[in-house]
Amino acid sequence: MAKAAARKKNLTKTNLLASIATATDMPKKQVAAVLVGLAAQIKQSLSTNGAITILGLVKIEKKTVPACPTWPAYIEVTVLPELLPGPDRYCARGLHTYHQSPATNKYGQPICGSCGADEINWDRLHGRDIADVAYTGAQLQTDRFRNKWWAKDLEEAAVKHALRKGPIGIQDDIRQRVLSSVGQLYRMEDGTVEPFRDGAQTPFRGNIIYYGQHATSTCCRKCIEVWHGIPRGRELTQDEIDYLAELLLVYVRFKLPGLGMDCHSK
Ligand SMILES: [Zn+2]
Ligand SMILES: [Zn+2]
Repeated sequence: MAKAAARKKNLTKTNLLASIATATDMPKKQVAAVLVGLAAQIKQSLSTNGAITILGLVKIEKKTVPACPTWPAYIEVTVLPELLPGPDRYCARGLHTYHQSPATNKYGQPICGSCGADEINWDRLHGRDIADVAYTGAQLQTDRFRNKWWAKDLEEAAVKHALRKGPIGIQDDIRQRVLSSVGQLYRMEDGTVEPFRDGAQTPFRGNIIYYGQHATSTCCRKCIEVWHGIPRGRELTQDEIDYLAELLLVYVRFKLPGLGMDCHSK
């Protein structure tokens, strides 16, 4: 953690110029001129075409959320698959880094940020069929970040809490939690409409539902958009709330098979 923070801190314009100059054997002044030219080119392309590809390097696109015209456009930077670092030890175990991957396939769907694996059927996931939640659960487990939450032991307090609540209590809590964490939207100063502190609203311990939210990618609207195809910037429909709640139940059944929730909740 400290190391990553230090690296970030060092990424100043001066350091960037210096490292490019060293790598290319170009005087810093020339590197600076190239970057200024590049920035101007990117700015112009984004305002005219909405996208620019720097061949063999990155694709930069200006995007809007179609479901919500008031949501401001955002910039997406995609590293081209050729530049990915290659399989790591997690890829070798079938665990790929789809979570926050900088690379996508040609449909804009995430591929593994290490090896470029493109093994998830995103269209099937985005169909959000309650009868297909087992498939979605299995796919989530192939993501390195999500898998941690499926594999992790729950803390004793969280298990005791869930057992005390029982199957009915947990189902009620799941619905409440979906509504309070990703269902209540606020208009932000910049005009976006989202939950309070979206991306940071789900704790990492204390309750099996929190664990489940990280495991099933129902922790924030950003993760829900990527994995479940529900656009940000609008309210959730009743069907979507039902679907997210059902996914959380898949997790609870998986972690606590003894809780008496083996039957389908509907
Ligand atoms: Zn991989
Ligand atoms: Zn999230």
